Amino acid sequence: MPERPTERPVRPPRAEPREIVELRQLKASQPDLASAVDMQIALVEMHRRVQSRVPLPWIQVDPEWVRAQQSGGRPLVRFREIPLDWTDFRLTFRQTADILRRFDALERPDHEAIVALGRDGNSLEPLVAAWYEATSGVEPGADPTARQRVVENAPSGVEHVLLLALRPFLARCAEALTQHVDLSTWTHGHCPFCGWEPDFAVVTPNAERRLVCGRCLAQWTFAPITCPYCMNDDRTLITSFATRDGRYRVSACDVCKRYLKAYDARHAPRPLLVAVDTIATLPLDAAAMQRGYSSG
Ligand SMILES: [Zn+2]
Ligand SMILES: [Zn+2]
Repeated sequence: MPERPTERPVRPPRAEPREIVELRQLKASQPDLASAVDMQIALVEMHRRVQSRVPLPWIQVDPEWVRAQQSGGRPLVRFREIPLDWTDFRLTFRQTADILRRFDALERPDHEAIVALGRDGNSLEPLVAAWYEATSGVEPGADPTARQRVVENAPSGVEHVLLLALRPFLARCAEALTQHVDLSTWTHGHCPFCGWEPDFAVVTPNAERRLVCGRCLAQWTFAPITCPYCMNDDRTLITSFATRDGRYRVSACDVCKRYLKAYDARHAPRPLLVAVDTIATLPLDAAAMQRGYSSG
């Protein structure tokens, strides 16, 4: 039946979340970043949908246990506490792989192998559990070669998919724990909740540096100069540079040759938006790599 548009009520467009609005603006102002922005929008929209379905988990925080974990430098989220609904996780895993494939961030044969893995409940569940245990360091005395063994036996590219697919579930854990746990004694370079590395930072208006977990997006305060990857704190062995407008900066470590990007919120018009700022700084990644530093 033909539509009669003149008779349809005019509905105002639904308000988009700020990060999506900012990503669209970024794409308009920097067309070179268009493909990266589009992939990020697809991922952000998927994460928002999933996260709205994931319940805020009830995580028991035994103060003794928390103290013991923290003094041992071990994070707090145990695998069994992640509110993973496997049907939902399998869907998220599949959609993540599809998005990465659509934007050429995953090779076709790897995508096929990953999708097949996602369909097979008997393989996916133990893989997710083993990968989390191997990469979180929650259990004392974790085997440092475990991650290698998990990844070796899985399709190439699977870690990228696991990282993004687990995020909405882990982010809820971090959200639940942030309200109950004191992080003031946590001085480590890895995430106090899931143990992953930071992949961004923010300098707050009161000049404190906070690191942002590359897996669950939790934030924690960290020494302003120290390299979180190797704990080098000799400022003559840290190279830093900034964008011309001073909004973003890079701290690169001359000991381990890794770098970390940061958003300088001290004079900025808005707070950190990780999903936007990691993409807006892709030109800084290129600059850092040109100088011989690496992101991972
Ligand atoms: Zn984390
Ligand atoms: Zn370092």
